[in-house]
Amino acid sequence: MTLINPVTIIGGGLAGCEASWQLAGRGIPVLLREMKPGRFSPAHEDPHLAELVCSNSLRAADPHHAAGLLKDEMARCGSLIITAAHKTRVPAGGALAVDRHAFARQVTGRIESHPLITVIRREVTGVPAAGDIIIASGPLTADALAADLARVTGPGLHFYDAIAPIVAADSIDRERCFRADRYGEPGTGDYLNCPLSAAEYHRLVELIAAGDAQRPRAFEDEKVFEGCMPVEAMAARGPETLAFGPLKPVGLTDPATGRRPHAVVQLRAENRDATMYNLVGFQTRLTFPWQNQVIHAIPGLEQAVILRYGTMHRNTFIDAPRLVNRGFQLLSDPRIFFAGQISGVEGYVESAASGLVAGIQLACRRLTGQLLPPPATTALGALGSHVTNTDASPFQPMNINFGLFPPLSGGKMKKAARKAAHVSRAHTALEDWLVSLPSVITTSS
Ligand SMILES: Cc1cc2nc3c(=O)[nH]c(=O)nc-3n(C[C@H](O)[C@H](O)[C@H](O)COP(=O)(O)OP(=O)(O)OC[C@H]3O[C@@H](n4cnc5c(N)ncnc54)[C@H](O)[C@@H]3O)c2cc1C
Repeated sequence: MTLINPVTIIGGGLAGCEASWQLAGRGIPVLLREMKPGRFSPAHEDPHLAELVCSNSLRAADPHHAAGLLKDEMARCGSLIITAAHKTRVPAGGALAVDRHAFARQVTGRIESHPLITVIRREVTGVPAAGDIIIASGPLTADALAADLARVTGPGLHFYDAIAPIVAADSIDRERCFRADRYGEPGTGDYLNCPLSAAEYHRLVELIAAGDAQRPRAFEDEKVFEGCMPVEAMAARGPETLAFGPLKPVGLTDPATGRRPHAVVQLRAENRDATMYNLVGFQTRLTFPWQNQVIHAIPGLEQAVILRYGTMHRNTFIDAPRLVNRGFQLLSDPRIFFAGQISGVEGYVESAASGLVAGIQLACRRLTGQLLPPPATTALGALGSHVTNTDASPFQPMNINFGLFPPLSGGKMKKAARKAAHVSRAHTALEDWLVSLPSVITTSS
């Protein structure tokens, strides 16, 4: 019998457990290294693995929602996290929500009793110098490991995110906004500009300033939020601060009036297919219902479909488009993979999904000598392709949404038909991908 060197996985959260399960299921031994209970991050408190640190919801269950489709694909890939979630489900309308303690116990039990997984409960303080590794230490990676990781990644390791809202391209009113770069030819350029009159601008600023914002958590440094100021903090500084900041109209003429608007909200494509646009410089901690009001008060965005809301958090994550390939493998050291929130995805399900992909990719590398990332038309592949390939700069973490998927052929469709077409295309692509992968040898312990 050939002895296979174990893969070291750092972090027994959602991603680390899912990656362990996918590798072990393909016959590859795993050393899963988790620092709890000897040390807890400021948000963790349960000694079990796969702790849900905040909400107990894994979002929409319906596969016609992007988050539901992602879970459906994970279930088809034999996901431990999704199986455990279904076993510990609590009633939550259309969402898949769980009893968090039962969920963590369920995952811990399956991991600890798997014959190919060894759990070592000790903090890892540096990136191991040899062997295959998956780094899945999460948004609150312990300091010593983070410091050593910065040596491996160079300047591409971040400790806070600053996310501006993103809207669906086809929900922007092109009659109200105009395409132009500052000082460029009107009608050409990379930006869509939503022009505001003085009255529209002042109403918007009042709305922003009156909004409820999420308070920094006890372990978040408020000074960081001053350095990269949220729009509500700028609005609170004075009525014209935003018009001299990210909403400045300088160099832009509205073709509808032939004049410079009082202010402009600029939109920049978030992906190469330009299916999503972000609101430039509009990072915010406003609550989601308040952001909803603010975004829909911007001329041209009255009907906008919000694909993701702005957030600003303490969050350890890598500059994935610069550092890893579509298999979440580090370009500068192919034995190292990233998974979970630290890989540049955002959210419980997305973290587990990237753990699933990284685990399968490392298994492919071991067993076939090559990576086989999921097709970009699947939810698993759309998320991974975006995170590892986007031109958006600076890179900010992303959650799953239909804007990440390659455009559909067949012209304009109604919303429901478009979702159904995405789901059907994704199912076919996922089935083809699954048959190309090394087989699962064991799914139960
Ligand atoms: C406070 C907070 C609240 C959040 N709330 C939500 C929410 O409600 N919904 C949502 O979808 N997403 C939420 N997220 C975002 C994200 O989805 C979760 O953090 C998710 O748990 C990430 O999964 P992960 O596997 O990447 O990391 P984690 O689940 O955090 O797992 C990482 C594991 O690595 C361990 N670890 C860290 N450093 C070391 C080390 N040096 N050595 C050994 N082990 C180590 C940790 O103890 C932890 O168990 C939240 C994030 C934070 C920080």
